Amino acid sequence: MLLKSRNESEQLLLYRSLFLRMSLCEKDVTHYQHLEKGYAGELLFDQYVNSLMNEFLLLNDVLLDFGNNLFQMDSLAIFQDSVRKGIYCSHCYTFFNEGTDTKLICSCGTIESIDDSIIRSVREFLLLFPDRLVTTNAIYDWCGGVVRSKKTVRRVLSAQFVLKGHSRNAHFVLKS
Ligand SMILES: [Zn+2]
Repeated sequence: MLLKSRNESEQLLLYRSLFLRMSLCEKDVTHYQHLEKGYAGELLFDQYVNSLMNEFLLLNDVLLDFGNNLFQMDSLAIFQDSVRKGIYCSHCYTFFNEGTDTKLICSCGTIESIDDSIIRSVREFLLLFPDRLVTTNAIYDWCGGVVRSKKTVRRVLSAQFVLKGHSRNAHFVLKS
């Protein structure tokens, strides 16, 4: 029997991103740490339950969608210029200095393909700046020089997302 795998909430992803990319006030840091601890606890709980109860269907993430909309970003003012650009390792959260044309290699041993890194960056960009358009230039800039070629960014965007609009209005949206 397969259990629905647990994913980090959008709120945790957002706070983690902001924690890594800008300095947060103490209250937000505390809240972020609380979210991480909660998630770590959920993972442990899942392991425990998995080992004991193979016969029962458990649904994780039963929080309804409205739960996600309840969180307030009152004390979080996201200013683009105060947010650190670049790509961090998905395992140890260290920012990459520079990648090769095909992959990013972290000192912790994690290797990620440049395609996956760019896709991850776009998702984070959308999370932080839902009102901004995903363009080749915007994502190239957001990657902070880690991705060396705009052509690489354009190739990945073209392959993984859908192009909307024309010429100066051209931008990419998630495949639905
Ligand atoms: Zn790492």
